[in-house]
Amino acid sequence: MTTSSMSNGVGSSLHYTNPEITPDPQNPVYDGQVNLKYGIGPLPQELQNKKIFFFDIDNCLYERSTKIHDMMQVKIHEYFKANLKLSDEDAHKLHISYYTTYGLALEGLVRNHQVDALEYNSQVDDSLDLKSVLSYNPKLRQTLLDIKQNQDYDLFWLITNAYKTHALRVVSFLGLGDLFDGLTFCDYAQSPIICKPMDQFFFNTLKNVNIDYNDKQVMQKQSFVDDSEINVKAAHRLGFGLVIHYIEIDSDYEKIKSKSDFKEYYGNGDNSDKSKIQIIRSILELNKI
Ligand SMILES: [Mg+2]
Repeated sequence: MTTSSMSNGVGSSLHYTNPEITPDPQNPVYDGQVNLKYGIGPLPQELQNKKIFFFDIDNCLYERSTKIHDMMQVKIHEYFKANLKLSDEDAHKLHISYYTTYGLALEGLVRNHQVDALEYNSQVDDSLDLKSVLSYNPKLRQTLLDIKQNQDYDLFWLITNAYKTHALRVVSFLGLGDLFDGLTFCDYAQSPIICKPMDQFFFNTLKNVNIDYNDKQVMQKQSFVDDSEINVKAAHRLGFGLVIHYIEIDSDYEKIKSKSDFKEYYGNGDNSDKSKIQIIRSILELNKI
């Protein structure tokens, strides 16, 4: 991976070039580059309490039907088998057990087997054949540009439970590498791992981008989109002004609608009440909210 970041302290930029993308002279936007002006933060002091749109990445900026999630499950299964010397059946059981207990299979591996989290990341997420399933998405690019122009956000910020290497690869394959100002990722090198939907992860992120999360009015200006039910519910509870749940799959939509707390979080479910979680069924509806 080719990344470089300027070491001038606060707000240093981050540049990444995806070697798997051949720049196309016909389409200069699709150059395999990601340029994040403020890198992984923190934002400089003068940028305080700005209006920020926070974007999840996986299964949000690309469709679940790409089956990247399934590709990941195969890699994790192989990792359990090879590194813990397990049969298919035992590897499957342990994988499920760690996922249910900790939310991330990796957390169980780090806690119980002293696995090197970054080595795991390189064997799982970073080895996915993303090139076969992700490509330049001009419609999504235009949607994000429209929001930037028409809804006067100060910053676009990526917020992911993946490690930064995976995040940068995905964004470069989609041709969105020049649209975001920074990235907050899940630091697999930390133990215990802090990730969405933990309050601490949101607080760390907001602090990093100079948002006073105790100020209700400041939080009202912030927007968040994610495909995960627990993540959007957490953001709603924490006071983000606009929370958008991207629900791609019909069966997920039906399941969420049938829950007893649906009204509390989503209102009538028709996006008429902007203080509730808004639902979109395609990421291209993002500029219609
Ligand atoms: Mg996601």
